[in-house]
Amino acid sequence: MVSLTFYGGANEIGGNKILLEDKGAKIYLDFGESFDFGDEYFYEFLSPRSANGLEVFFEFGLMPKVPRLYSKSLLEFTDLKYEKSDIDAVLISHSHSDHVGHLQFLDESIPVYMGHGTHKIIEIYTKLYSSLSDIGEHEQLRFFKSGDRIKVKHLEIEPIHVEHSIPGAYGFIVHTSKGAIVYTGDLRLHGPKSSMTREFLKKAAAAKPYAMLCEGTRMGGDEEHNNTEEEVEAMVEAVINKSKGMVFANFSMSNVDRFMSFYRATVKNKRKLVVDTKFAYILDNLKDKISGLPDVRTDPNIRVYYRLSKSCKFDKMDYTPWEREYWNKKITYKELAKTQKKFVMHITFYKLMELVYIQPKNADYIYSQSEHFLEGEENKGQKTVLDNWMHHFNVGFHKAHCSGHASRQDIEEIVKTIKPKLLIPMHTQNAEDFRQFHENVLIPEKEKKIEI
Ligand SMILES: [Zn+2]
Ligand SMILES: [Zn+2]
Repeated sequence: MVSLTFYGGANEIGGNKILLEDKGAKIYLDFGESFDFGDEYFYEFLSPRSANGLEVFFEFGLMPKVPRLYSKSLLEFTDLKYEKSDIDAVLISHSHSDHVGHLQFLDESIPVYMGHGTHKIIEIYTKLYSSLSDIGEHEQLRFFKSGDRIKVKHLEIEPIHVEHSIPGAYGFIVHTSKGAIVYTGDLRLHGPKSSMTREFLKKAAAAKPYAMLCEGTRMGGDEEHNNTEEEVEAMVEAVINKSKGMVFANFSMSNVDRFMSFYRATVKNKRKLVVDTKFAYILDNLKDKISGLPDVRTDPNIRVYYRLSKSCKFDKMDYTPWEREYWNKKITYKELAKTQKKFVMHITFYKLMELVYIQPKNADYIYSQSEHFLEGEENKGQKTVLDNWMHHFNVGFHKAHCSGHASRQDIEEIVKTIKPKLLIPMHTQNAEDFRQFHENVLIPEKEKKIEI
């Protein structure tokens, strides 16, 4: 008998945490944190501290009281007794927090499997942002690559690379006692490495799965995001080409495909791409893992932005040792302010203060991430502040983005190619819509064990 219990990822976008049980074998598919995790009880600085354990989360029912799962130290002030774990493996599809965020709570003795790239990204981010828990340090880490076969008791799991908006993403084929179950993770078909997703589809179809857990982030249908990454690059190139001043760009630092789109569009327009020291560190540390990524230390098309710091004199010793690594690529607001038309600068919302020093003239700003931020009611305050900054400096506002997730049409193609007997929607708020192209859809509910 095979069963699934969704501790996250059922009727919600993200938070995947799915227990698969089969004849005494127990594995989790991802171990993520929901995007709205804790929103009802925590607010800005009213949030758990490092001294707090799971008692804080149990109090509000934010984490399920599952025995033999959590680490001993985190259970100390709870009424759940620590017992040796009975989980055989946790399989991680990719490094987004809605897939890895709760690894921090896991018992250290549980083997966690992830791709090399995923581990590298986690390592980079925990070094740069001390507020993130050190999930890359788990005692029982095991790495896989596409095409491996992982044995967990009688189960066999095949990780196969897929394309998503972060490098190193995988889907899984789990061979159970009842046949193959396919787990898509997060994936898309419209990016530059879609051949990886195609390979996954081919292998998944060949496994003749009796069930498939399929992501459906975009089942709601958002037609305007239906660009390919290539089209995004063309849009970016056009904005840069027309701009009479500096071009600011806001996109996720972990989205390497987007970085490459901006990089190429910048070079074609004979400008230089400016990234801050954190972004430089990320690129520098990913270059061994990702072919074609420019070397931030030597590439003449990239400059590294150093913010005004302690001495106010741009003294090298003002910066941390890892920041100093890029000193030969240093650029400051002074040079940028003088020759604005020569640059495209990556800038996130929280770094807008630099505009006060740069004093942009005739500048443009390309917003290149999820529209969720621009449209969501909960982000209204932040959006107003962004608008005010754009208005104050008279900056032209542009959008250029495509999603990391398959469009509705592509989900249909994925389902029809893989042809599972049973279709289980996950990572979606539109699970019912899957019935439109499959006759046997099972919609999971949170924490309800389902036999399949
Ligand atoms: Zn996700
Ligand atoms: Zn993702």
